[in-house]
Amino acid sequence: MDDSFTIEALCLFCNAVLTSEEGKEFDSGDLIKCNNCGEMNDYDSVVEVAKEKGVDKVESEIEKELHKTMKNLFK
Ligand SMILES: [Zn+2]
Repeated sequence: MDDSFTIEALCLFCNAVLTSEEGKEFDSGDLIKCNNCGEMNDYDSVVEVAKEKGVDKVESEIEKELHKTMKNLFK
């Protein structure tokens, strides 16, 4: 898979990339502490935002491909 499709979990308060301690996994309902600003991020909200960003990325990629296809069709 393309590297540009990596979805990062970002702090809802300062937009820093959230990192977990080695080997630690988060689950629904957990709070993730931001290492940058110290705020607690609600896991479900972080996932929701990350998902939306991922969808945006995929949609713009599809649009690009579609433009290429359309150009070829009407040549
Ligand atoms: Zn933060």
